Amino acid sequence: MTSTLAVAPWRVFHVEVRALRRIGPSFLRVTFTGPDLDRFADNGYDQRIKLALPVTEGAAAELPAGPDWYQRWRDLPAERRSPIRTYTVRAARPAASEVDVDLALHGDGGPATRWARRARLGDRLALVGPDAGYPGVHGGVEFAPPAGATLLLAGDETAAPAIGAILDRLPADARGHALVEVPQAGDEPPVRAPAGVTVTWLPRAGAPHGSRLTPAVVDLAARLLPAPPVAGPPPADVNVDRDVLWEVPERPEGAALYAWLAGEAAVIRGLRRHLVAERGLDRRAVAFMGYWRAGRAEN
Ligand SMILES: Cc1cc2nc3c(=O)[nH]c(=O)nc-3n(C[C@H](O)[C@H](O)[C@H](O)COP(=O)(O)OP(=O)(O)OC[C@H]3O[C@@H](n4cnc5c(N)ncnc54)[C@H](O)[C@@H]3O)c2cc1C
Repeated sequence: MTSTLAVAPWRVFHVEVRALRRIGPSFLRVTFTGPDLDRFADNGYDQRIKLALPVTEGAAAELPAGPDWYQRWRDLPAERRSPIRTYTVRAARPAASEVDVDLALHGDGGPATRWARRARLGDRLALVGPDAGYPGVHGGVEFAPPAGATLLLAGDETAAPAIGAILDRLPADARGHALVEVPQAGDEPPVRAPAGVTVTWLPRAGAPHGSRLTPAVVDLAARLLPAPPVAGPPPADVNVDRDVLWEVPERPEGAALYAWLAGEAAVIRGLRRHLVAERGLDRRAVAFMGYWRAGRAEN
C-alpha cells in the first residue's frame, strides 16, 4: 500500500469483477479487484460502501474521482449518472486487492439487482469505500455493543452480509443470537460464529417479508427479557415511506443486552417498537437501520 496520507476518509475505487459465485439461490458473491484496493481499509463489522452501477447494460460504471466526487456526480446529466446503491463489505483482503460483496437478488426491479443478474467477469464498477490512507475514523460502521453485553442481531437477506461480517470479528467469548430471515432454504451463506452465539436461519419460502423474523425476535425477546416489561414510552414513530429509518446509539456502556436490527424498514420499525415499548429494552441499546423499503428504490 502506498504510504500517502489521504485527506478524506472515503474515496472512489475503480474496480472490476474478479470472481462471481452463487452462494445460495438468492445471493451472488462478487469479488472485486482494482489497482487501488490495496488501500481499502479492512474495518470489518457492518462497514457499508456504495456501488455505482452501469447506466446502460454492458457499459462501465463511472464516478468522478476526488474528494468532491459526490457533488460532481450529482451535477452529471441523468443519462451519464451511474445509479448508486449501498452495500456491505462481506470481506476485504487488501493484500490481495480484493473486496467481497454479497448481493441479495430480488426480482429485476433495481439497477443493482439488474446488474447482478447479468454480471460478468471483468465488468467495471466504481466502489466508494474507506481509505486506509486516512488517519482518522472512516465512518460507516454502526455495530458498537457495550463490553460484555448479550447480542441480539436480527435482519433479513440484505443484512445477512453485515451479520456474517460482524460474526467474523466477534471475540471468542461473545454471547448472543443472530436471527436472519432469508428468501428460501439454501440461502444460508457460510458464517463463522463464536461458540456462544447461536445463528438461526429463517427461510421465508414465499411468505411476506418479516413473517418469520418478527415472531422469532418476539420469542427470543421473551426469553432474554423475561421480567415484566417496564412500559417504556413508545419510540417516536417514523414514517418509513418518507423518512430514513436509522438510529444508532453511542456505545451504550452497561447495557446487558444490545440489539442490532437491519432490513426492510417497516419490519425493523416493528421489531424495535416491540423490544423498546413491549419488552422494556433501553432504546439506547438498540441500533436499528432500514436497509431498504418495500416499494421504494434507494434513490
Ligand atoms: C447500510 C446498508 C447496507 C446494505 N448492505 C446490503 C448487502 O450487503 N447486500 C444486499 O443485498 N443489500 C444490502 N443493502 C440493501 C440494498 O441497498 C437495497 O436492497 C437496494 O435497494 C438494492 O438496490 P436495487 O438497485 O436492487 O433496487 P432499488 O432500485 O433500490 O429498488 C427497486 C425496487 O426493489 C425493491 N427492493 C430493494 N431491495 C429489495 C430486496 N432485498 N428484496 C425485495 N425488494 C427489494 C425496492 O423496494 C423497490 O421497489 C444495504 C442497504 C444499506 C442501507
